[in-house]
Amino acid sequence: PPVRALKRGRLDYSPLYKEFVLPANRSVAEVRARLNSNENKFGPSPNALKALSSQMEHGNLYGWQAIQSLKEELAAHEGVSSDHILIGPGSTDFLEKCGMAFFMNGGNLVSADPTFMTLIRVAEAVGAEWKNIPLRRDWSHDLSAMEKAVDANTKMVYVCNPNNPTGTLTDADDLLAFCERTSSKVPVFVDEAYMEFLEPGTGKTTVSLVKKGNNVIVARTFSKIHGMAGLRIGYIVGQPETLEIIARLSFTGMGISNTSIAAARASLKDVEYVERCRSIHNEIRDFTFSGLKSLGYDPVRSYTSFMIFPIRSGGSAFLKNMENEGVQIRTLQIAGSPYCRVSLGTKDEMQIFLDAVKKVES
Ligand code: PMP
Repeated sequence: PPVRALKRGRLDYSPLYKEFVLPANRSVAEVRARLNSNENKFGPSPNALKALSSQMEHGNLYGWQAIQSLKEELAAHEGVSSDHILIGPGSTDFLEKCGMAFFMNGGNLVSADPTFMTLIRVAEAVGAEWKNIPLRRDWSHDLSAMEKAVDANTKMVYVCNPNNPTGTLTDADDLLAFCERTSSKVPVFVDEAYMEFLEPGTGKTTVSLVKKGNNVIVARTFSKIHGMAGLRIGYIVGQPETLEIIARLSFTGMGISNTSIAAARASLKDVEYVERCRSIHNEIRDFTFSGLKSLGYDPVRSYTSFMIFPIRSGGSAFLKNMENEGVQIRTLQIAGSPYCRVSLGTKDEMQIFLDAVKKVES
């Protein structure tokens, strides 16, 4: 079927949630802090960098064998067999492929609102209906409303935990129970892009459900905690029959560079580096949270490498004024109120950000 025209503007995600952008022809100030894309300012790990450069001379080779090795290493890391793993160029690729594979014949997609939009946008573009369930007042997923929304036309449920753009977490046991029940009816896609930022013991991955045989697809990425967003590599963990549906959408499954595979293998082994990234992000998150508090803001407690807080000026004005200060952030409107979403950068960048917030809203 032809790709459908979007019913809403590109950034009017729902009646509840939209994002602001600046006009393309604006004059751009010198960027002093790029805090709009949830990039890890500390990665890749030194071992990944070494692997990258030594792999360059093998640029003439396809990555068949290396991909198989990474698959086995990821399987061991997740505690599943390697037929439960699919590797691709970032989790975006899997979200897009699921949009095409599961919604080509229409149907509906159930998810929270606001949430990460990639799967929703592709599903809508190929003809699906989005059943958007507002987050609860505490920013957690409204799991009982989501469960009620699942009907005979539902092709997939999407859960982003911790959630983007809010940075918030849904209770692990409630979510596990929801996914277990729901996945007996439809596949449940759980996007865990930020899961590794959680302190051990804070949340639970839904990979345990895959191990129990449930039709849950868990997405992980090397873009966030591993600091490799530009290298484009991620993976999903799921039932082999479901992964097969997704894998069929690319002829060879070879959309990933040989060098990225080498870097991912090295980073996966560099447990200490990942741990350091977690602790440094947590420290910078506390620094940013208390910095915003002392400026009189009420930031939403985040479990990720970014956070949101309500702003006083409108979304467009705040975005433009921050950009004029050389600080790139995002501004969103959620339930009629403007918010800033800021990614965690270095401490120096966060200080530049805090100074800019103080200046533009004073
Ligand atoms: N899921 C979520 C929740 C994200 O925030 C992002 C990146 N912003 C992605 C998936 C995509 O990540 P990537 O394609 O780099 O793996």
